[in-house]
Amino acid sequence: MSLQTDVSRATAESESEARLISFLDTAVDGILVIDEEARILVYNIACERLFGWTAEEAIGRNVKLIMPMAYGRAHDSYVSNYMDTGERKIIGIGREVHARHKDGTEFPVELSVGEARIPQGRQFIGIIRDLRPRKEAEQRVRELQADLVHIARVSAIDEMGAALAHELNQPLTAIMLYLQAGTRTIRKGRDARTDDALISVMEKAVHEADRAGAIISRMRQFVEKREPNRRGVDLNAVIDEAVELTLLGMRDKVRVVRIYSRDLPPAFAEPVQIQQVVVNLLRNAAEALRGRPDGEVRIETTALDDGPAVIVSDNGPGIPPEALPDLFKAFATSKKTGMGLGLSISRTIAQSHGGDLVVDPGGNGRGARFTLKLQPAETDEARTGED
Ligand code: ADP
Repeated sequence: MSLQTDVSRATAESESEARLISFLDTAVDGILVIDEEARILVYNIACERLFGWTAEEAIGRNVKLIMPMAYGRAHDSYVSNYMDTGERKIIGIGREVHARHKDGTEFPVELSVGEARIPQGRQFIGIIRDLRPRKEAEQRVRELQADLVHIARVSAIDEMGAALAHELNQPLTAIMLYLQAGTRTIRKGRDARTDDALISVMEKAVHEADRAGAIISRMRQFVEKREPNRRGVDLNAVIDEAVELTLLGMRDKVRVVRIYSRDLPPAFAEPVQIQQVVVNLLRNAAEALRGRPDGEVRIETTALDDGPAVIVSDNGPGIPPEALPDLFKAFATSKKTGMGLGLSISRTIAQSHGGDLVVDPGGNGRGARFTLKLQPAETDEARTGED
């Protein structure tokens, strides 16, 4: 080999090395290379930003430097297990893990690992993407969604306000009448007989006060803003409360037939959100039945193959074909005062529960039939157990 060739090869090598370094440093993702002993060989600028260690500090150190303590301990056994058995836990797969900053904070990253075999042994290349921006955006979307769902509940109570006020007025009026009757009895002068009559009107007044209290607490629970807390729930009881609330909030009461399955598995659900879906579906059905004396809504709970479900059907006109394509989209409404948010929010709620809201539109003499599908509670427990 002539001197000339050696020089040009050295230039070519340093050129390609420079190109490689600038390529590594241009990358937005952290890129690092470790050897078989988990020593850091390459550590780009993005890694410096991500982990707070400079390349000078990091190169030559064990990769545990940027791993949470618990992973760090497991990592040695991962590497040696892979060396011994060739079993791949992460190489070529990529997964979400936690990384550790120099200041000790831990944060989620997506890690993809590749392997290179070189004459000196094996090297592993890790590409690390910071997942915090994505997680924060997801969290923000979840919060906005929860706000919207909550606002829709407040708006439903607002729409039912007049009818609810009327329902509340009834027990309050009754209490007043019982108290007046009691006062009259006392004025007339007391004996053993009037005492019994007094006790009886007092008991009736207490019963009416309970009834008014129950209406208020049902309304309050429905509009209360709470962190969604999904858990195993008895769907029949949850649905029944929603039916009661809807009936209270209707001026023209509609006939509601309840068919509850007795052997329903517990559903994985945030009760108030499921009630919100049911209130929406029942109110829509009642609206479709307006002016039909034979109008009837059926609400059924049933166990489908993949979980418990609630079916709300009516004997109204069905969904008009032209409304069908946009039925679950926001602001699609056939009503003068409707916002067209009910079904869109209901489906969002269903899907955020890992379920769905589907419709059989009916028509030609058949009413609409909505099915709210949910997950059984065990599935979630099993899933949590896997994590
Ligand atoms: P809104 O009730 O504010 O109109 P929704 O999203 O709840 O909004 O409903 C959208 C539209 O779907 C309604 O305006 C109505 O045209 C139609 N719809 C919903 N449920 C039924 C039903 N059971 N029967 C007939 N049409 C229905």
